[in-house]
Amino acid sequence: MTRHDVIVVGGGVAGISAAVNLADAGAKVLLLEQRRLLGGRAGSFAHALGPAGLLDNAQHVLLGCCSELQSLYGRLGVAGLIRYDDVIRFAGPDGRRAEMRAAMLPAPLHLGPSMLRFGLLKLRQKVEIVRAMAAMMVEGETGREQRGDTSFGAYLREQDQSDDTIGEFWDVIAVSALNEHCAQASAKYGMQVFQEGFLASRGGYRLGYARVPLTELYSRLGGLSVRMGAQVRELVLEKGRVAGVELVGGERLPAGQVVLAASPSGAIPLLRSVYGLDERLQRIEQIEFRPILGAHLLFDRPVTIDAPVALVGTHLQWVFVDEQRPELIHGVVSAADLLPDGVDLAELFVSELRQVYPEMMGLKLADSVMVKENRATFRPVPGIDHLRPGQRTRVSGLTLAGDYTRTDWPATMEGAARSGQRAAEVVLHLWG
Ligand SMILES: Cc1cc2nc3c(=O)[nH]c(=O)nc-3n(C[C@H](O)[C@H](O)[C@H](O)COP(=O)(O)OP(=O)(O)OC[C@H]3O[C@@H](n4cnc5c(N)ncnc54)[C@H](O)[C@@H]3O)c2cc1C
Repeated sequence: MTRHDVIVVGGGVAGISAAVNLADAGAKVLLLEQRRLLGGRAGSFAHALGPAGLLDNAQHVLLGCCSELQSLYGRLGVAGLIRYDDVIRFAGPDGRRAEMRAAMLPAPLHLGPSMLRFGLLKLRQKVEIVRAMAAMMVEGETGREQRGDTSFGAYLREQDQSDDTIGEFWDVIAVSALNEHCAQASAKYGMQVFQEGFLASRGGYRLGYARVPLTELYSRLGGLSVRMGAQVRELVLEKGRVAGVELVGGERLPAGQVVLAASPSGAIPLLRSVYGLDERLQRIEQIEFRPILGAHLLFDRPVTIDAPVALVGTHLQWVFVDEQRPELIHGVVSAADLLPDGVDLAELFVSELRQVYPEMMGLKLADSVMVKENRATFRPVPGIDHLRPGQRTRVSGLTLAGDYTRTDWPATMEGAARSGQRAAEVVLHLWG
């Protein structure tokens, strides 16, 4: 039986990142994924509505500040499949429109002129926002690190932000970026979004998204052995160390090291057998999650609105028009637990779109698919970092990766990519 240097369990962004970084360092790596497609939560599934017979769970976006993810895409040779927009558009009912784009000014002043013109906010609100942004800049990374146990809402109150400013500006961004409202999010992660995305560099706010179904981004894993449809049933323990994995069906695969890159719901059943060797791992069971909904709406004719666009004052929060099939809209609703029960969501979203874009009145909905991922992201609440495990464990032979592990990033593709890169570093360090 071939013994691999490292088996990576889980073909999401974290597992792919770990596997690629290890393979680049010369390790013989086997990547195991239980599903038939790579990508995990940032992945696709077969469906006739999608242009290549594939639909994503939900349209995923990255920001210009997501450096590790961009370097992973570069390594995979797919950087050109990501499109970046320099303008973030906002639209509301009654013709309300606004946009954010960088002016010819250095950071952190580059978004100032857009902010001053921003049509969805009153002058008083803009003054409040500028004051809070200035405070965040002064506090920097050190300041936010010290605020991991307090809420972003409390921080914004300290900065004299009024209710309407929190609801109409800070919450709009926080819900999109953190899947959490300011009142519940940790100040560390709330501040990070604005420090990294809006203040630290001119390009940090740029919105990136895949021009192809997400799973196609992971189709070039040259040099790696990948087994799809391979579900790990348990970690194989020998003399108190993890020495490989056992698949559903009983096949045993030995390895020098195992990187467990499953999401918490996949990892917990495997980790229970090693809680006795590292009791800190049990804390993962206390992490809470929040849903995101992807709404795929197919119309009878091409949709010609200026997208991507963030909708304000509606349940539907983001709208993307499919580049390859312009009749198809991909909508996103974060904090999807707040959607009303017992309503036809497709009807609700179409009526909201028509309120914002009266020109869509003539378009008929031909088909729709709603995908609600209940455990989309962990909740970045105050104190969350005490529950997130590091990549390095006390269990010999076992390293962790995954967006939920400690990366100082919220549950994002960037956090997942960072976790994989760190897991690879841990394994390579252990080998000396
Ligand atoms: C609907 C939705 C929208 C989102 N929007 C965004 C966004 O716009 N931007 C952003 O940055 N992030 C977004 N996220 C979050 C982002 O998708 C995740 O943070 C990231 O993809 C997590 O990657 P991961 O590799 O840590 O975990 P996962 O993607 O969950 O990967 C884990 C993999 O392990 C596999 N696995 C589990 N158990 C086993 C086992 N026993 N054996 C073998 N394989 C196993 C799973 O099948 C899966 O493929 C969104 C998430 C969702 C669900």
